[in-house]
Amino acid sequence: MHNNKQHKQCVSFVFALISDYLGGFSMDYGFVDCHCHVSACEFEEDLEDVIQRSRQVGVKTLVAVTEEVGEFDRVLQLQERYPDLVAPCLGVHPLQAGGGSEQRSVKLQDLDAALPMFYKHRERLVAIGEIGLDFTPWCAPTEQDRHDQMSVFIKQLNVAKELDLPVNVHSRSAAKVTIATMREQGISRALLHNFAGKPSVALEGVKAGYFFSFPPAVCRNRQRDKLIKQIPLEHICLETDSPALGLDKHVRNEPSNIVLCCQRIADVKGLSPQTVQLVTAQNAYRLFPGAKTHTHKTV
Ligand SMILES: [Zn+2]
Repeated sequence: MHNNKQHKQCVSFVFALISDYLGGFSMDYGFVDCHCHVSACEFEEDLEDVIQRSRQVGVKTLVAVTEEVGEFDRVLQLQERYPDLVAPCLGVHPLQAGGGSEQRSVKLQDLDAALPMFYKHRERLVAIGEIGLDFTPWCAPTEQDRHDQMSVFIKQLNVAKELDLPVNVHSRSAAKVTIATMREQGISRALLHNFAGKPSVALEGVKAGYFFSFPPAVCRNRQRDKLIKQIPLEHICLETDSPALGLDKHVRNEPSNIVLCCQRIADVKGLSPQTVQLVTAQNAYRLFPGAKTHTHKTV
Protein backbone atom coordinates (compact mmCIF):
# COMPACT_ATOMS: atom_id res chain seq x y z
CA MET A 1 0.00 0.00 0.00
CA HIS A 2 2.71 2.37 1.12
CA ASN A 3 4.96 1.43 -1.78
CA ASN A 4 2.16 1.76 -4.22
CA LYS A 5 1.42 5.26 -2.99
CA GLN A 6 5.06 6.25 -3.18
CA HIS A 7 5.23 4.82 -6.66
CA LYS A 8 2.15 6.78 -7.68
CA GLN A 9 3.60 10.01 -6.30
CA CYS A 10 6.90 9.31 -8.01
CA VAL A 11 5.25 8.70 -11.37
CA SER A 12 3.24 11.88 -11.00
CA PHE A 13 6.32 13.84 -10.03
CA VAL A 14 8.38 12.63 -13.00
CA PHE A 15 5.47 13.32 -15.27
CA ALA A 16 5.14 16.83 -13.88
CA LEU A 17 8.82 17.50 -14.48
CA ILE A 18 8.61 16.31 -18.07
CA SER A 19 5.49 18.33 -18.69
CA ASP A 20 6.98 21.45 -17.15
CA TYR A 21 9.95 20.97 -19.40
CA LEU A 22 7.61 20.72 -22.38
CA GLY A 23 5.93 23.84 -21.13
CA GLY A 24 2.37 22.77 -20.56
CA PHE A 25 -0.20 20.04 -20.20
CA SER A 26 0.46 16.60 -21.53
CA MET A 27 -1.08 15.97 -24.90
CA ASP A 28 -0.30 12.27 -24.54
CA TYR A 29 -2.41 11.45 -21.57
CA GLY A 30 -4.83 14.25 -22.14
CA PHE A 31 -7.95 15.33 -20.34
CA VAL A 32 -11.06 13.26 -19.77
CA ASP A 33 -14.24 15.30 -19.55
CA CYS A 34 -16.21 12.91 -17.35
CA HIS A 35 -19.56 14.64 -17.64
CA CYS A 36 -20.70 16.77 -20.56
CA HIS A 37 -23.79 17.18 -22.72
CA VAL A 38 -22.47 17.28 -26.27
CA SER A 39 -25.82 16.07 -27.57
CA ALA A 40 -27.48 19.25 -26.23
CA CYS A 41 -29.17 21.49 -28.79
CA GLU A 42 -26.80 24.33 -27.79
CA PHE A 43 -24.06 22.52 -29.72
CA GLU A 44 -26.04 21.61 -32.81
CA GLU A 45 -24.80 24.45 -34.98
CA ASP A 46 -21.06 24.44 -34.41
CA LEU A 47 -20.25 21.09 -32.84
CA GLU A 48 -17.38 20.48 -35.24
CA ASP A 49 -15.61 23.65 -34.00
CA VAL A 50 -16.33 22.78 -30.38
CA ILE A 51 -14.82 19.32 -30.89
CA GLN A 52 -11.80 20.76 -32.62
CA ARG A 53 -11.13 23.23 -29.82
CA SER A 54 -11.40 20.45 -27.25
CA ARG A 55 -8.91 18.28 -29.18
CA GLN A 56 -6.56 21.26 -29.39
CA VAL A 57 -6.28 21.56 -25.61
CA GLY A 58 -5.74 17.81 -25.31
CA VAL A 59 -9.17 16.41 -24.48
CA LYS A 60 -9.02 12.68 -25.29
CA THR A 61 -12.43 11.52 -24.15
CA LEU A 62 -15.83 13.10 -23.73
CA VAL A 63 -18.04 11.07 -21.42
CA ALA A 64 -21.33 12.24 -22.88
CA VAL A 65 -24.41 11.97 -20.66
CA THR A 66 -28.08 12.30 -21.55
CA GLU A 67 -31.06 13.63 -19.62
CA GLU A 68 -34.05 12.11 -21.39
CA VAL A 69 -34.89 9.39 -23.86
CA GLY A 70 -35.35 11.90 -26.70
CA GLU A 71 -31.60 12.51 -26.61
CA PHE A 72 -30.44 8.88 -26.74
CA ASP A 73 -30.24 8.56 -30.52
CA ARG A 74 -28.30 11.78 -30.86
CA VAL A 75 -25.57 10.76 -28.41
CA LEU A 76 -25.22 7.36 -30.09
CA GLN A 77 -24.92 9.09 -33.47
CA LEU A 78 -22.19 11.32 -32.06
CA GLN A 79 -20.31 8.25 -30.93
CA GLU A 80 -20.47 6.95 -34.51
CA ARG A 81 -19.25 10.28 -35.81
CA TYR A 82 -16.40 10.66 -33.27
CA PRO A 83 -15.67 7.08 -32.17
CA ASP A 84 -12.24 7.96 -30.74
CA LEU A 85 -13.68 10.78 -28.61
CA VAL A 86 -17.31 10.36 -27.59
CA ALA A 87 -18.05 7.76 -24.90
CA PRO A 88 -21.82 7.63 -24.43
CA CYS A 89 -23.90 7.23 -21.28
CA LEU A 90 -27.67 6.79 -21.37
CA GLY A 91 -29.75 7.97 -18.46
CA VAL A 92 -32.91 9.76 -17.38
CA HIS A 93 -32.29 12.87 -15.25
CA PRO A 94 -34.23 13.51 -12.01
CA LEU A 95 -35.57 16.74 -13.55
CA GLN A 96 -37.40 16.77 -16.85
CA ALA A 97 -38.60 19.59 -19.07
CA GLY A 98 -42.05 20.55 -17.88
CA GLY A 99 -43.07 22.81 -20.75
CA GLY A 100 -41.66 26.32 -21.14
CA SER A 101 -38.76 27.01 -18.84
CA GLU A 102 -40.32 24.92 -16.09
CA GLN A 103 -38.70 21.77 -14.79
CA ARG A 104 -40.56 18.98 -13.08
CA SER A 105 -39.53 15.88 -11.19
CA VAL A 106 -39.12 12.73 -13.24
CA LYS A 107 -41.85 10.06 -13.15
CA LEU A 108 -41.65 6.30 -13.61
CA GLN A 109 -43.40 6.63 -16.99
CA ASP A 110 -40.39 8.66 -18.23
CA LEU A 111 -38.40 5.44 -17.98
CA ASP A 112 -40.76 3.36 -20.14
CA ALA A 113 -39.16 4.18 -23.47
CA ALA A 114 -35.65 4.40 -21.98
CA LEU A 115 -35.37 0.97 -20.36
CA PRO A 116 -35.29 -1.11 -23.57
CA MET A 117 -32.65 1.28 -24.98
CA PHE A 118 -30.27 0.57 -22.08
CA TYR A 119 -30.37 -3.13 -22.90
CA LYS A 120 -30.30 -2.68 -26.66
CA HIS A 121 -27.15 -0.53 -26.59
CA ARG A 122 -25.44 -2.01 -23.53
CA GLU A 123 -22.24 -2.86 -25.42
CA ARG A 124 -21.76 0.74 -26.48
CA LEU A 125 -22.32 2.39 -23.11
CA VAL A 126 -19.60 3.46 -20.67
CA ALA A 127 -22.06 4.28 -17.87
CA ILE A 128 -25.69 4.87 -16.93
CA GLY A 129 -26.27 8.62 -16.54
CA GLU A 130 -27.15 11.29 -15.94
CA ILE A 131 -29.25 9.90 -13.13
CA GLY A 132 -29.72 11.03 -9.55
CA LEU A 133 -31.75 13.09 -7.11
CA ASP A 134 -32.57 16.79 -7.14
CA PHE A 135 -34.48 17.89 -4.08
CA THR A 136 -34.21 21.62 -4.75
CA PRO A 137 -37.52 22.83 -3.21
CA TRP A 138 -38.96 24.47 -6.34
CA CYS A 139 -38.11 21.42 -8.49
CA ALA A 140 -39.40 18.79 -6.12
CA PRO A 141 -41.95 20.58 -3.95
CA THR A 142 -43.97 17.56 -2.84
CA GLU A 143 -43.27 14.30 -1.07
CA GLN A 144 -44.65 12.54 -4.15
CA ASP A 145 -42.03 14.29 -6.37
CA ARG A 146 -39.19 13.11 -4.16
CA HIS A 147 -40.68 9.63 -4.01
CA ASP A 148 -40.95 9.44 -7.81
CA GLN A 149 -37.36 10.63 -8.24
CA MET A 150 -36.19 7.99 -5.81
CA SER A 151 -38.06 5.21 -7.64
CA VAL A 152 -36.56 6.26 -10.99
CA PHE A 153 -33.08 6.55 -9.48
CA ILE A 154 -33.19 3.11 -7.84
CA LYS A 155 -34.52 1.51 -11.00
CA GLN A 156 -31.62 2.92 -13.03
CA LEU A 157 -29.08 1.96 -10.35
CA ASN A 158 -30.35 -1.58 -10.71
CA VAL A 159 -30.01 -1.45 -14.48
CA ALA A 160 -26.39 -0.32 -14.02
CA LYS A 161 -25.73 -3.24 -11.69
CA GLU A 162 -27.34 -5.69 -14.09
CA LEU A 163 -25.31 -4.38 -17.02
CA ASP A 164 -22.16 -4.10 -14.88
CA LEU A 165 -21.78 -0.40 -15.67
CA PRO A 166 -20.77 2.55 -13.47
CA VAL A 167 -23.17 5.45 -12.86
CA ASN A 168 -22.81 9.15 -13.68
CA VAL A 169 -24.75 10.93 -10.95
CA HIS A 170 -26.44 14.28 -10.36
CA SER A 171 -27.15 15.25 -6.77
CA ARG A 172 -28.51 18.59 -5.66
CA SER A 173 -29.92 19.36 -2.23
CA ALA A 174 -29.76 15.61 -1.72
CA ALA A 175 -26.10 14.81 -1.06
CA LYS A 176 -26.53 12.56 1.92
CA VAL A 177 -29.51 10.62 0.63
CA THR A 178 -27.90 10.11 -2.80
CA ILE A 179 -24.78 8.52 -1.34
CA ALA A 180 -26.77 6.50 1.21
CA THR A 181 -29.08 5.18 -1.52
CA MET A 182 -26.19 4.12 -3.74
CA ARG A 183 -24.52 2.34 -0.84
CA GLU A 184 -27.77 0.57 0.11
CA GLN A 185 -28.20 -0.54 -3.49
CA GLY A 186 -24.69 -1.99 -3.55
CA ILE A 187 -23.27 0.47 -6.09
CA SER A 188 -19.48 0.39 -6.10
CA ARG A 189 -18.61 2.53 -9.14
CA ALA A 190 -20.01 6.06 -9.28
CA LEU A 191 -19.15 9.59 -10.28
CA LEU A 192 -20.87 12.36 -8.32
CA HIS A 193 -20.74 15.29 -10.69
CA ASN A 194 -20.66 18.90 -9.51
CA PHE A 195 -21.00 17.69 -5.95
CA ALA A 196 -21.76 20.48 -3.49
CA GLY A 197 -22.54 18.61 -0.27
CA LYS A 198 -20.63 18.79 2.98
CA PRO A 199 -17.06 17.43 3.06
CA SER A 200 -18.07 14.90 5.73
CA VAL A 201 -20.75 13.53 3.38
CA ALA A 202 -18.33 13.45 0.45
CA LEU A 203 -15.89 11.45 2.56
CA GLU A 204 -18.62 8.83 3.08
CA GLY A 205 -18.66 8.54 -0.70
CA VAL A 206 -14.87 8.30 -0.82
CA LYS A 207 -15.09 5.43 1.66
CA ALA A 208 -17.51 3.70 -0.69
CA GLY A 209 -15.01 4.14 -3.54
CA TYR A 210 -16.91 6.89 -5.37
CA PHE A 211 -15.39 9.67 -7.47
CA PHE A 212 -16.21 13.39 -7.51
CA SER A 213 -15.88 15.80 -10.42
CA PHE A 214 -15.92 19.57 -10.55
CA PRO A 215 -16.79 21.84 -13.49
CA PRO A 216 -15.25 25.24 -14.42
CA ALA A 217 -18.01 26.96 -12.40
CA VAL A 218 -15.99 26.17 -9.25
CA CYS A 219 -13.64 28.97 -10.36
CA ARG A 220 -16.41 31.55 -9.81
CA ASN A 221 -15.84 31.73 -6.05
CA ARG A 222 -14.16 29.91 -3.17
CA GLN A 223 -17.25 28.01 -1.96
CA ARG A 224 -16.04 24.59 -3.07
CA ASP A 225 -12.40 24.96 -1.94
CA LYS A 226 -12.82 23.20 1.38
CA LEU A 227 -14.53 20.26 -0.28
CA ILE A 228 -11.91 19.96 -3.03
CA LYS A 229 -9.16 20.15 -0.44
CA GLN A 230 -10.59 17.29 1.58
CA ILE A 231 -11.36 14.83 -1.20
CA PRO A 232 -8.16 12.90 -2.05
CA LEU A 233 -6.92 13.51 -5.60
CA GLU A 234 -7.26 9.75 -6.22
CA HIS A 235 -11.04 10.28 -6.03
CA ILE A 236 -11.32 13.39 -8.19
CA CYS A 237 -12.16 13.62 -11.89
CA LEU A 238 -12.54 16.57 -14.25
CA GLU A 239 -15.76 17.56 -16.01
CA THR A 240 -17.25 20.58 -17.72
CA ASP A 241 -21.02 19.81 -17.69
CA SER A 242 -21.05 21.74 -20.97
CA PRO A 243 -23.02 23.65 -22.09
CA ALA A 244 -23.84 24.58 -18.45
CA LEU A 245 -21.64 25.42 -15.45
CA GLY A 246 -18.95 27.47 -17.17
CA LEU A 247 -16.86 30.22 -15.71
CA ASP A 248 -19.45 32.80 -16.71
CA LYS A 249 -23.06 31.82 -16.05
CA HIS A 250 -24.28 33.59 -19.19
CA VAL A 251 -21.75 32.15 -21.64
CA ARG A 252 -22.08 28.68 -23.15
CA ASN A 253 -19.55 26.32 -21.60
CA GLU A 254 -17.59 23.84 -23.75
CA PRO A 255 -15.22 20.93 -23.13
CA SER A 256 -12.05 22.92 -23.96
CA ASN A 257 -12.70 24.81 -20.69
CA ILE A 258 -11.61 21.69 -18.82
CA VAL A 259 -8.20 23.34 -18.42
CA LEU A 260 -9.84 25.87 -16.06
CA CYS A 261 -11.09 23.35 -13.51
CA CYS A 262 -7.83 21.43 -13.74
CA GLN A 263 -5.91 24.59 -12.91
CA ARG A 264 -8.30 25.47 -10.08
CA ILE A 265 -8.08 22.04 -8.44
CA ALA A 266 -4.29 22.24 -8.73
CA ASP A 267 -4.27 25.69 -7.05
CA VAL A 268 -6.56 24.61 -4.22
CA LYS A 269 -4.56 21.46 -3.56
CA GLY A 270 -1.15 23.07 -4.04
CA LEU A 271 -0.21 20.68 -6.84
CA SER A 272 0.95 21.23 -10.39
CA PRO A 273 -1.80 21.23 -13.04
CA GLN A 274 0.10 18.46 -14.81
CA THR A 275 -0.22 16.20 -11.79
CA VAL A 276 -3.95 16.92 -11.55
CA GLN A 277 -4.35 16.24 -15.25
CA LEU A 278 -2.52 12.91 -15.09
CA VAL A 279 -4.12 11.58 -11.92
CA THR A 280 -7.66 12.64 -12.86
CA ALA A 281 -7.31 11.03 -16.30
CA GLN A 282 -6.11 7.81 -14.68
CA ASN A 283 -9.04 7.98 -12.25
CA ALA A 284 -11.47 8.53 -15.13
CA TYR A 285 -10.29 5.49 -17.06
CA ARG A 286 -10.34 3.42 -13.88
CA LEU A 287 -13.94 4.43 -13.25
CA PHE A 288 -15.08 4.23 -16.89
CA PRO A 289 -12.94 1.44 -18.39
CA GLY A 290 -15.17 1.48 -21.45
CA ALA A 291 -14.01 5.04 -22.18
CA LYS A 292 -10.42 3.90 -22.48
CA THR A 293 -11.36 1.22 -24.98
CA HIS A 294 -13.15 3.92 -26.91
CA THR A 295 -10.07 6.04 -27.34
CA HIS A 296 -8.12 3.05 -28.60
CA LYS A 297 -10.85 1.63 -30.78
CA THR A 298 -10.06 3.69 -33.84
CA VAL A 299 -7.40 6.07 -35.21
ZN1 LIG B 1 -25.10 17.35 -16.35
